[in-house]
Amino acid sequence: MYWEKDIETISRDNLAVLQLENLRHTLAWAAKSFYYGELFKKIGLAPENVRSRADLTKIPPTTKDDLRAHWPYGFVAVPRDELVRMHSSSGTTGRATVIFHTAGDLSEWTNLLARCMYMSGMRKSDVFQNMMTYGLFTGGLGFHYGAERIGALVIPAGAGNSKRQIQLLKDFETTVIHIIPSYALHLSTVFEELRMDPKDTKIRIAYVGAEPHSEKMRQKIEALYGFKAYNSYGLSEMNGPGVAFECPVQNGLHIWEDNFIAEILDPATLQPVPDGEEGELVLTTLRREGMPILRYRTKDLTRIIPGDCPCGRTHRRIERIKGRTDDMMILKGVNIFPIQIEKKLMEIPGVGKNFLIILDREGFNDHMTVKVEVERQFFDGDLKHLEQLRKRIVEELKSDILITPKVDLVTPESLPQSEGKAKRVIDNRKD
Ligand code: AMP
Ligand code: ZN
Repeated sequence: MYWEKDIETISRDNLAVLQLENLRHTLAWAAKSFYYGELFKKIGLAPENVRSRADLTKIPPTTKDDLRAHWPYGFVAVPRDELVRMHSSSGTTGRATVIFHTAGDLSEWTNLLARCMYMSGMRKSDVFQNMMTYGLFTGGLGFHYGAERIGALVIPAGAGNSKRQIQLLKDFETTVIHIIPSYALHLSTVFEELRMDPKDTKIRIAYVGAEPHSEKMRQKIEALYGFKAYNSYGLSEMNGPGVAFECPVQNGLHIWEDNFIAEILDPATLQPVPDGEEGELVLTTLRREGMPILRYRTKDLTRIIPGDCPCGRTHRRIERIKGRTDDMMILKGVNIFPIQIEKKLMEIPGVGKNFLIILDREGFNDHMTVKVEVERQFFDGDLKHLEQLRKRIVEELKSDILITPKVDLVTPESLPQSEGKAKRVIDNRKD
């Protein structure tokens, strides 16, 4: 049941000792990089004098802008020829940040992925089809090597090409997949086009992640395919996937605290929030040598779920990510996250598999339009039903987000579909 029982079920006291030991090592190591070397001098921090985990808070958090400003090698803490792999973030704004790994880093990362997949039930006998982009994006190669370490048969299918995916699923009786949640919904439509039932495969486990999705969306995916879907969280700056992962209990994601120190900070004040309250996840690598990063501001909003997990693992759990601080839309003074809209939509019968939020400005007024795919039968039948559904969606959204959006209902598969992370918002207000 456990990949590494001793580490996964370590007592909190022993974990604290281990964390401090790894933190001291990491700080000494990080001091070799240009960025942290200079920073430690500036703030007067001597890694050898660090005596408690609390000393970490003396270090100002690291941001994506810091990584960009010292691009590409300013955070690297080993000689250049020790580096064996580069990855980058999938961000669409500004210069993509790059992360370098030594052979040791890759081995540690692979082990984390194996731990995650084993936890949810993947075994040597499984056939694993990886439907993620291979390349600079970390989702492809990260899972690939993790699954190989478990000993599963890996099909490196890559993203997209839905008909070929389905063919591979059938031909090789795939039992475990890794897929972007929005793409999982799209793929089920392709099954239907081929007059096949998505339930009619051997898949028993899916790893879904890389983008925010609600519990409702997970349930929808599970119901369509009849498998269990586990949430996978990570970011390229912290290797990629393998940072936090759901266990079979499916109530929060265990964050691997032997590899990362997790803090939840108020994004405005950068002070810790009380346990259990929402804030920005800030992470410190504890076992990385190529490019250690201290107190990295992920911009992802979550909270620690208080209490023990029935699965026996002692690493704390974070709640599924609500969104990134920069995904937050402000309309007429109200803060709204795309996931709030997704969650409401997924609860309404008749709503299809995709939606798009469009923000416009007229004079001083902001408007939100939500385009929603609805099931085909609404377009074949009485238009009254379509109008009833539209009104219901407006009402449901209004009750949650407190403003009245314009809702346009569109036919299945008519909205743009990405093979990678879904783009949920088009903001035309920036002028
Ligand atoms: P990248 O570094 O390009 O792989 O992007 C990492 C970002 O993707 C994270 O900081 C999150 O904003 C988002 N992300 C990754 N996994 C998840 C997940 N399971 N749920 C929500 N957001 C996620
Ligand atoms: Zn658990």
